[in-house]
Amino acid sequence: MNAPAASSPLDRPAQFLKGVGPRRADALGRLGVHTARDLLFHVPRRYEDASTVSRIGSAEPGMDVTVIGEVRSKGVLPTRSGLRIFQAVLFDDSGLIECSWPGQPFLDRTIQKGDVLLVTGPVRFFHGRQLQPREYVVLGRAGEGVGQGGKVLPLYPATEGLSQKVIRGILDDNLDRLLPLVHTEDAVPPALLKRLGLPSLMQAVQLVHRPATLAEAESGRRRLSFDELFFLQLMYARAQQRAQARRPGIAFARNDRIIAPLYRALPFPLTAAQTRAIAAIFADMTSPRRMNRLLQGDVGAGKTIVALFAMALAVESGYQAALMAPTEILAEQHARGLAGYAGPLGLSVVLLTGSLGAAERRAALERIADGSAHIVIGTHALIQESVRFHSLGLAVVDEQHRFGVKQRLALAAQGDAPDVLVMSATPIPRSLAMTLYGDLELTILDELPPHRRPVRTVLRPESARERVYQFVREQVAAGRQAFIVYPLVAESEKVDLRAATAEYERLSIDVFPDLALGLVHGQLAAEEKDVVMQRFVSGAVQILVATSVIEVGIDVPNATVLVVEHAERFGLSQLHQLRGRVGRGAEQSFCILVAGAETERLAILTGSADGFEIARADLQLRGMGDFFGARQHGLPEFRFFDPIRDEDLLTEARAAARATATSDPELRQPEHARLRTSLEHRFADRERLYEVG
Ligand code: ADP
Ligand code: MG
Repeated sequence: MNAPAASSPLDRPAQFLKGVGPRRADALGRLGVHTARDLLFHVPRRYEDASTVSRIGSAEPGMDVTVIGEVRSKGVLPTRSGLRIFQAVLFDDSGLIECSWPGQPFLDRTIQKGDVLLVTGPVRFFHGRQLQPREYVVLGRAGEGVGQGGKVLPLYPATEGLSQKVIRGILDDNLDRLLPLVHTEDAVPPALLKRLGLPSLMQAVQLVHRPATLAEAESGRRRLSFDELFFLQLMYARAQQRAQARRPGIAFARNDRIIAPLYRALPFPLTAAQTRAIAAIFADMTSPRRMNRLLQGDVGAGKTIVALFAMALAVESGYQAALMAPTEILAEQHARGLAGYAGPLGLSVVLLTGSLGAAERRAALERIADGSAHIVIGTHALIQESVRFHSLGLAVVDEQHRFGVKQRLALAAQGDAPDVLVMSATPIPRSLAMTLYGDLELTILDELPPHRRPVRTVLRPESARERVYQFVREQVAAGRQAFIVYPLVAESEKVDLRAATAEYERLSIDVFPDLALGLVHGQLAAEEKDVVMQRFVSGAVQILVATSVIEVGIDVPNATVLVVEHAERFGLSQLHQLRGRVGRGAEQSFCILVAGAETERLAILTGSADGFEIARADLQLRGMGDFFGARQHGLPEFRFFDPIRDEDLLTEARAAARATATSDPELRQPEHARLRTSLEHRFADRERLYEVG
């Protein structure tokens, strides 16, 4: 945790702790506990207390319960298969229940008649009610009553050769001696802790291991979570400050030469959220500080127009603006769409992608270099070294979650400290956005343009597939287009999923032989993918069979049906993102989720059209690790932070970190001495990365 500069007794190997020998040290190592400090921060996974314990009499088959009871009888039961089962009957004043541990006859030596056990697990019906313990704890030995530790029982991550009981014992033996050492490592100024109502680090560690109530355990966890957030935010704040001090930004000057006619040319009124976002961006851009802003908005919220206003301000101040998109098709789409506005205003838009011919490419590079290209739109091609801007003043990154921090910084490095605007349609909860993109200011477009017809979303069982195909056929006959999305690319032996390639063939030959189908998936080369997408955009392809590669940005207003096969394999946010591919035109659109399982989870989508609400539900269901799936760029590792519970804490941590970085940027004040060493220890590499910007 808060590693000090000089070595501390907390750095001593776990093997020298009381009650730990080489064997147990090995087992502790498997849990990531290598030092005395690690032991202190090996916190319980969860707790049991009277509020989570069921009465034995009320445990019914099908339930998952925690009960506390006394062992009335016990024994080992041989079975015909040779498996030996340890069984114990527990009772409390409401009744008794049989507990059964298959394959664990050795428990007969550790569990005695009269012991008081806490047992957690599912209840099933097997000659009566039977509990199959997932975990158990001996709370008290026969005749001794329930042991010390109070009514709250910490449950630790355990491992083979190191049971709950042993871990609890090791902590009991060492905690009192180690706690005062933690105190010397508390890096957060006491005044700040007091203002936020957080315990000291020493108290926090004590509270998570020996809480008298669940509320105490939670208060300890919050303090540990605060440290994770505060240090991270402090790192961001200091890196930002250094970058700003070294190279201040451009103070753009608004003269309305372009912006005023742009307002007049809009075919629709801006939403209130768009107006707010533009105001925030203009305030950033006209200030001499460099802008670093994330514009987050649900699919279809209208981020592109907001970006266009930012680019217009840059251009009317005499600078160039660049917009980078993750795919060629999206870059082309933006170039076409923005040229429609920019042309009449006298702005030139230049497209730069990997698939330009040599002559086109040379011409584009020339116009970028001599400044006659006002707005440059492209893919990763924009960050190649051969690209030289005349005067890049604003760098915009679209669908930023598809890029890494490095690519964002690389685009900015194409200019001399340009302002940066990044956009994302992955609606993640504010708290997560602030931790993931902690170096960015956040603007949320929390409003969709009016008169959008919500996409009608339905769940269908696999048995209804023929009817779904029939519906797709009807829509195509009416002149519309459809997406059919599959979770995997190639059929694998293990999973019987309808993989896109195999299904594409089946659909083309057996189901829709008279219609024009196309196939895109992640393993196609970029150019091939774009050819197919282009044919879909032009209407030549009527049904696009795809994997989730189509989830970003594509705008085909004539597409009105999205069918997702094996919808249960997708995250909710991803499905919502996919759903954003339809509902972009005047016609009613449909999203059909075909799923054999998890219909309850998927029902969240049929009931909500709000990406933020869905993201929150998704995060709550899957936890942070899985939330973004495999594509994860630099998500800091959190052990204590809980993005749902700690939203307020994060706001506090960010404010406190910024205040600290402003009042004492180099952390020279004596009360910040420990902060400085802790920070250097944790974040040296990351800090350098962000300072580049
Ligand atoms: P996203 O935020 O997903 O990038 P876009 O910028 O592509 O959304 O906008 C989606 C569609 O909504 C576009 O066709 C755009 O022209 C339209 N649009 C944007 N703002 C408004 C508005 N205020 N009123 C009506 N339509 C709008
Ligand atoms: Mg967009």
